[in-house]
Formats: sequence, C-alpha cells, structure tokens
Amino acid sequence: MKILVVGNGGREHALAWTLTQSETVQQVICTPGNGGTATLTKCQNRNIPVEDIPAIVALAKDEAIDLVVVGPEVPLALGIADELTKNHVKVFGPGREGAKLEASKSWAKDLMLAAGVPTATGAVFTDPQAAKDYITQVPIVIKADGLAAGKGVIVATSLEMADSAITSISQGEFGQDNCQIVIEEFLQGQEVSVLAITDGKTIRPLIPAQDHKPIGEGDTGPNTGGMGAYAPTPLVSDTLMVKIQREVLEPTLQELQNRGIDYCGIIYAGLMITPDGDLMVLEFNCRFGDPETQAVLLMLDTPLDQILTACCDRRLAELPPIRWKPGVSLCVVLASCGYPGTYPKGKLITGIDAASALGAKVFHAGTRLVDGQIITDGGRVLGVTAIGDTVETAITNAYQAVDCINFDGMYCRRDIGFRLRQSQN
Ligand code: AMP
Repeated sequence: MKILVVGNGGREHALAWTLTQSETVQQVICTPGNGGTATLTKCQNRNIPVEDIPAIVALAKDEAIDLVVVGPEVPLALGIADELTKNHVKVFGPGREGAKLEASKSWAKDLMLAAGVPTATGAVFTDPQAAKDYITQVPIVIKADGLAAGKGVIVATSLEMADSAITSISQGEFGQDNCQIVIEEFLQGQEVSVLAITDGKTIRPLIPAQDHKPIGEGDTGPNTGGMGAYAPTPLVSDTLMVKIQREVLEPTLQELQNRGIDYCGIIYAGLMITPDGDLMVLEFNCRFGDPETQAVLLMLDTPLDQILTACCDRRLAELPPIRWKPGVSLCVVLASCGYPGTYPKGKLITGIDAASALGAKVFHAGTRLVDGQIITDGGRVLGVTAIGDTVETAITNAYQAVDCINFDGMYCRRDIGFRLRQSQN
C-alpha cells in the first residue's frame, strides 16, 4: 500500500511510523510532515500545506495513493474528505458535515442531546447580552462555537471573567465565524480520552488514554495542546468502557446516521468521569488526539493499515479484535521555552539517537531537517514515548530517554503520569 498522511505534528509522525512498521505498507508520504517523517525509512515529505485541498487531491492522484489519513481537524472541517472521495481516493477521516462534531460545539451539543448522550447542561447564544444575563453563578464554562486551536474554552471563576470571555468571543477574537457562545455547567472530575474508530456502521474504541493539558507540574497554569499522555488508563475499567460504548459511542454514531452522515474516521470522546463515577461528554473531536495518539499507537499490535482499510471499506464489523501490547505507554512532550506563548525556533536538537537506543520512541512534532540536522520548529518539539510493564517502569523508561535529549530552552513537565501513580496507591 501507498499511504498519504496529512499533517505535520507528533500525531502524524506517530501515524506515519506505525504505518511503516506494517509489511503491507510499501511507502508513506507525509505532507507537509516534519523532521521525524523526513528521516523515517519508507517515508518522504511533500511541501503542501494541510489547507491546500486541491493540491493534496492532485498529489494523491498523481502518486496513486491507496489511502489518505488526515491528522488535523482544519482540513477535515474544510471538506478534504469529501473532495478525496469525489475523486475516488480512499480517505480515513469524516467529511465536512461529520467534522462539525468538532468544528461546531453548538452543533455537537445538539447532536448529543438528540442522541441522549450524557453531557453538561448548557445553552447557546448569538446575543452577548443574553449570554451575560444567563449567567448567575460561577464557576461556569464559556466556549467559542468553532475551531479555535484549543484556545476557545474559558473556565470562568468570576462573573467579570465570564463577561469578558463573552465579549471576546462576540467580538470575533476566536475568528469571525466563531461568534456563537456556548455556556455550560462546570463539571468536576478526571478527564479521559476515548478514541474510537468507525466505518459509519460499527464503532470500536481504542485503549483509553489520559493527557496532561496544563503547562505546569501538578496540572497548573495555562492549557497547551498537551504536555504528555499515557495509555491505557486504569480509570476506565472494562465495565466503564462497555458503558461508554453503549451510552456515548453507539448513540452518537446512530444520530450521525439519522442525520444522513456517513462517518468514516475517528470519533474522539473527551469525557469527564465525575467523583460519583458518572460519565459526561465534554467534547467530541473528529480526528486522532495529540499526544494521546503517540501513547496509544505505541501499544498497537495489529497493523494500523489493516484497521484503517477495514474502516474505509466499510467492513469494520469483520475485523478481528484489535491486538494490544501488554503494559503501559507514556509520552512526555519536550517543548520550546515560552510555549504556549511565543517561543524561539531553529535550535539544534541533540541526543535523539541516544534516547532511541534506550528503547524509547522519539516522535517529532515541531522539528525540521536542515542540512542533515534536526532543529526546533514549533512549540511542542518532541514526544518521547516509552512502554513499561508497570506504570513505574514506563515513567522511568520515558524520563531516562528524555534525559538524553537537549536543545536550547528545552522544557518538559517532570510529573507526566502522576495520576497513574496515585491510582496505583
Ligand atoms: P473542550 O475543547 O470542550 O474539550 O474543552 C477543553 C477543555 O476545557 C477540556 O479538556 C476541559 O479541561 C475543559 N472543559 C470543557 N468543558 C468543561 C466543563 N463543562 N466543565 C469543566 N471543564 C470543562
């Protein structure tokens, strides 16, 4: 098979690497890719940005690509899957309508309510004053309706903060198409990410993951794209996973079908497990999570191309159970200093080979290959991922590998997996 991976993050390096491990995959092309995909055996990069859908469709046809895997949400929301399908190219990823699950929080909320999926109570407003009048108590959660690169959710702890969040959204701070305001009750508990694969008829969860979004240790400070992740998480027992399947995944797929949406791809449920053990959906994403994918795919034993092809051919029901390696996988993100604010680029990265020699998998995110050297090119730079038989060994293996790597201003959290440790005690 010849596979095209669209995107340039750690998730896409993990997807490309996992695909190249399969005997039935001859070649992977990644666009635009990063330093990791540029140096991966059986893989090469092309320089087409993810939003340039006509050029990606042309590339897929010119290269006789058998399957396109779309990493980020933006091209999905722009309709890349519809265009590829129109041109008879197989694609793993939903069309524009299905991608609304992530691209419009008000649309997703409406779908959840219609499907009877447990979610926070809330309301949607276009008039900022009506939104402000609705709020009588804090904490409360205010969300911009559309895609906002993870920045459109504000947990307001005072009425002033709520007011200013509503004003910012209504004035278009998160984009002019993003002026609708979703207000939700604040939920407490632990968050888990359940990524499920679907061919539009059958839906199957992958192993459950947890990520650490805040920049600071102890889960403090501003949110980032994710500073680390691990899988599987013991927070989701087999019984809870059955409940997630019955109460969240299947009704969501059914409601998509009711709306005439043929959804092939990932349905990523961001779930809150409340202290009483109740389950609530915080959000849906329409693609693989980052950095959860790095942790989840390292545990995968079934060839990934078999799984994705089964979805695209609408025969997921016939796929044998997905096999997973034993143990736990943990990904530690190495970031540029200043992230999630402004940060420098172009710093030389050393020690990747030494980290890999210890058995860790170093997934590149914001990196670039320049004159044979790997340099930093983004906020999140690398995702150092390791497996252990136990939580403790996974943490030790990942951090021993982290300690081999260096670049000017490198920052990482030293406590990734602390909740796993707590759950063991
Ligand atoms: P979302 O993009 O909707 O997942 O929101 C991003 C993050 O905001 C989530 O991962 C949670 O940490 C937080 N969040 C979203 N909705 C709620 C809620 N109703 N209660 C508490 N936290 C929330």
